[in-house]
Amino acid sequence: MNSDEIKEELKSKGIKNTKAKGSLLHILKNAEAPMDASSLHTASSKEASVNLVTVYRTLQQFHEKGLVQEFPGKDGVSQYEYIHQGANAHPHFQCEKCGKVICLGELGFDDALYFSNMAKQHKVNSINITLNGVCEACL
Ligand SMILES: [Zn+2]
Ligand SMILES: [Zn+2]
Repeated sequence: MNSDEIKEELKSKGIKNTKAKGSLLHILKNAEAPMDASSLHTASSKEASVNLVTVYRTLQQFHEKGLVQEFPGKDGVSQYEYIHQGANAHPHFQCEKCGKVICLGELGFDDALYFSNMAKQHKVNSINITLNGVCEACL
């Protein structure tokens, strides 16, 4: 039940459309917060039976093709987030108690410039900022 939009997106990135990949992309696109492989695996099991190895492989491919960004979460577990076209980078907040990752507001142009300038003559491809602390629910 993958939509044409999902199929087109996979095709445009040179990724073979399979039921598993389509459903994983669909979940990532609609997720409100970054997900790790195991939560994605749980979420996808409602739609299609995708094994965990496929989830890992697909995430790796999505990352290589620039569909998702990857960043380290609690205990070094990678978190994945769909990169919405035209959206600016945004920082994340991670709770040290429950491990939840929350998306914060987008960086403005000046903010992005400020961080990019820190790298001086290096070329910046992406900005990942994570604020660590204790979330509202765990306080
Ligand atoms: Zn928490
Ligand atoms: Zn985010």
